Amino acid sequence: MSKDASGHNEGPLVELDFAENDEKPLDRLLEKERSVQENRKTARDYLFEASIISVDCLEGKQEKWATTAEPGTALTKLLLKDRVPYKVGDHIAVVPFGMQFGTHIEGICEALNIDPNAVFIARPGEGRTLEKHMSPLLFEIQYKYTTIKNVLTSVAALGDPLSATACAVLSGYAEDQQEFELLDRASNDADFLANMCKNGGMRWVDLFDSFKSLAGNIPLEIFLMLLPTHHARLYSIASSPKNAKNEIHIIVSRRVMGEAEQRRKGVASDDLSVMPPGSTLQFQVRTCRGFHLPADPRAPIVMVAAGSGLAPFRGFWQERMAAAQSGQPLGPAILLYGCREEPGSLLAKELIMAQACGAVSLVITAVSTRLPKRYIQDYVVENAAALKPILENPKCEVYMCGSTTMVKAVTAVLPPHKQGEAWIQKLQSEGRLHEDVFGGPESNC
Ligand SMILES: Cc1cc2nc3c(=O)[nH]c(=O)nc-3n(C[C@H](O)[C@H](O)[C@H](O)COP(=O)(O)OP(=O)(O)OC[C@H]3O[C@@H](n4cnc5c(N)ncnc54)[C@H](O)[C@@H]3O)c2cc1C
Repeated sequence: MSKDASGHNEGPLVELDFAENDEKPLDRLLEKERSVQENRKTARDYLFEASIISVDCLEGKQEKWATTAEPGTALTKLLLKDRVPYKVGDHIAVVPFGMQFGTHIEGICEALNIDPNAVFIARPGEGRTLEKHMSPLLFEIQYKYTTIKNVLTSVAALGDPLSATACAVLSGYAEDQQEFELLDRASNDADFLANMCKNGGMRWVDLFDSFKSLAGNIPLEIFLMLLPTHHARLYSIASSPKNAKNEIHIIVSRRVMGEAEQRRKGVASDDLSVMPPGSTLQFQVRTCRGFHLPADPRAPIVMVAAGSGLAPFRGFWQERMAAAQSGQPLGPAILLYGCREEPGSLLAKELIMAQACGAVSLVITAVSTRLPKRYIQDYVVENAAALKPILENPKCEVYMCGSTTMVKAVTAVLPPHKQGEAWIQKLQSEGRLHEDVFGGPESNC
């Protein structure tokens, strides 16, 4: 093995070793791999397993979700394999599958001239070490028997756009002059690349459709080296362990991006709203330190949510229902909820039960499609007299969950008296203002 002037090894970064036919059956190898992985679980990266119990539609047209980029909101219930110690207000981190890309895998394998089910193992080339920054995907799959189908299904983020670096490398394999020029320019001009991504056709899943001359030309090692890996997405837990001991529920807003033919579905939100019952997934629990119920259940609470920001509050009211059933006295709890459609029967029934036992004292819904169009902040102003005594209680805790825009707009009108800024600062300094913010202005969370 020789080294170049900079001291780098010249040998290949990775060697892919394909099994002979019928050698090393994949199931047995995956099972062995799985047991090794399980033994490696640490407190920090412990992966819990769950299976889908049901996906109920809260908003939108569920019958269209599997096939089209159709918005909507789902209540997804997960059955836990292990006992998961979580508190209401915590999150789960889910690594998606990208189920929507399943139908493209055969085409990608064809373009790579590879049998999707051929078993192989990736090992660093002689004298080389594979580090994460060199290739997150090769780093993740090294020393594990797998197949390209398995890698493309569960490791590679096929929905991610091509990076400038990827364009630079890929341009070297484009036989068509126009394709070469596009990739080459995209690798040098960030605005051009951003524009191409916006116009569509620049996701990894589209690679061989958009750049046909790459088919049959890219070595598999290079393709795998460039592919990005899935990253975890966070979802607020929408259930209480006191209500559903071996279940975790989440509320998922289907993310839809782009216009007309370029309309695309978000990867994880699509998986979690279309996966059939019985499908399994892995997740981590991330505790959300600043977003838990007050230790004293008599402390008044105000919960402000928009869209899937309702999730933690469903956990809150379930927890308070359990407290009420065990005879604990509860303070008042006001829920201000902004949504696109009137809450359907599922949520409406739950809220009636929560109100009947005092777990929630008042529900104010702001339906944005009602005319005249009004948002939660408008209802805060309209209900100022009812909110004032609760907000002025020195034990009152305020919780807001949803988009940055909603939280900003509500914070501006929430203070019960004129010294608004000072009131907000006092609430913050006493740790009584809790925010769980996700999704920017364009988000449909
Ligand atoms: C603390 C926290 C709590 C959360 N809780 C919830 C919750 O309870 N419920 C909920 O529904 N969501 C929640 N979210 C949001 C959730 O984590 C995901 O971000 C959301 O579901 C979208 O993920 P996705 O995989 O569907 O979309 P993605 O596929 O990741 O797409 C999302 C964004 O990525 C970019 N993008 C993706 N593909 C491309 C492309 N090809 N080209 C260019 N850009 C692209 C776009 O900017 C797009 O808007 C939470 C987030 C945080 C941070």
